[in-house]
Amino acid sequence: MGIDEKECQNDEFVKIINGEKLLKGSKPFASVYAGHQFGHFVPQLGDGRAINLGKFKNYHLQTKGSGRTRYSRFGDGKAVLRSSIREYLISEAMYGLNIPTTRALGIIASDTYAIREYKDEPCSIVLRASSSWIRVGTFEFLARTKDYKENIEKMANYLINESFEELKSEENKELAYQKMFFELVDRSAKLLSLWQGYGFCHGVLNTDNFSAAALTIDYGPFAFMNYFDENYICNHTDYEGRYSYKNQPYIARWNLLVLANALGCICNEDVLKDYMKNFLSLYFKNYYELMSQKLGLEATKSADSNKNLIDNLLLAMQNAKVDYSYFFYALTNLKSFDKLDIILNSTINKEPLLRWFELYKKTCEEQNSSFESRFEISKKVNPKYILKNYILQEAIEKAENDDFSLVNDLLKIAQNPFDEHKEFERYALPTPLAFSNLQLSCSS
Ligand code: AMP
Ligand code: MG
Repeated sequence: MGIDEKECQNDEFVKIINGEKLLKGSKPFASVYAGHQFGHFVPQLGDGRAINLGKFKNYHLQTKGSGRTRYSRFGDGKAVLRSSIREYLISEAMYGLNIPTTRALGIIASDTYAIREYKDEPCSIVLRASSSWIRVGTFEFLARTKDYKENIEKMANYLINESFEELKSEENKELAYQKMFFELVDRSAKLLSLWQGYGFCHGVLNTDNFSAAALTIDYGPFAFMNYFDENYICNHTDYEGRYSYKNQPYIARWNLLVLANALGCICNEDVLKDYMKNFLSLYFKNYYELMSQKLGLEATKSADSNKNLIDNLLLAMQNAKVDYSYFFYALTNLKSFDKLDIILNSTINKEPLLRWFELYKKTCEEQNSSFESRFEISKKVNPKYILKNYILQEAIEKAENDDFSLVNDLLKIAQNPFDEHKEFERYALPTPLAFSNLQLSCSS
């Protein structure tokens, strides 16, 4: 943000994150929103522990965990160190992977404790930054206010200003709102393809945690896939698997339809819903392009044979039990089909992948693709480092004992996941089985 690094280490900066020092011009507020939580409508939610500080260089700043607000309901307004470190590191990791996300600017520890799952845990505050904090739930709330039309119009204007700048000059307002929705649908389809392609599971895709600017927002019990399992549910309170990995694109579609409904008072809802018919095909188009790239193949060439190859790979991975990100990184660096052991030995069941490699080899030959060309294409989308939950947990446990060194080291890895980090080779290996596909609690 153009702030001198030394400035960020001094007490002033800590006081800003702490909420002790108000930045010039800042008028702090907590925002109200509603939302569908696990499919059930809750008429009033809001920033229960986040305080908006205002805008600085295109970023709206927020402290998270700084205490109770008007919308805290039964909560204590606090965030524990564990969840703050997770949000701090993973938002930067997403950014490092070029996945649209809110960012984290700073984190401070605290002397206070909060009770989570019957345990005392140390607290913390994260300073977050985003082009927009507006959620689908924001519009759901406004749709039920007395002056709903006026309020939704104001909010849509604000959102266009902050996150859809290309539409600012559109003079026909109804058309501008329509285009904003279309653009959001396009961006969300892209976002979901990135989540699925990189194996990211959000865990709580309620409409209040679904960004109206197509950013990854509100990190809770998220997880990057360890051993590939399309049915993986990372949130242990998600009993029915509503937010399982494979359901995410369908939930995104559901959430966007809720938004279309709320926007119905300022533009033609039928037109919005008609556009939503494209969502899944748009999502799949983006997804198969990314996956083709991850296999080192040209996305636009032989789309059908690539799709077949990808569908077969997912089936093989499911049966082979293979670490998702390790597989792709190893594939990028594969120099010969005689050296498959590096991948196969990391699986629990070799057979399905061995058979898949026959198909892969054939497809590569048909497409005249070489190991070199595949390396060049896939290295941009197959990072060496993915911050899996067990890695974050190591940093958290150290930090809970006042050692923040691994948090800082992981931040560097998060921001440069495609680079070498010699000291941390072990984090690029398959997830140790004991730590694989864990489920996390929502309580943070
Ligand atoms: P989430 O699903 O974690 O994004 O949270 C759902 C709602 O509960 C949001 O409105 C949060 O602001 C609120 N919330 C979560 N944790 C707390 C807390 N410790 N104190 C107050 N509000 C909270
Ligand atoms: Mg939330």
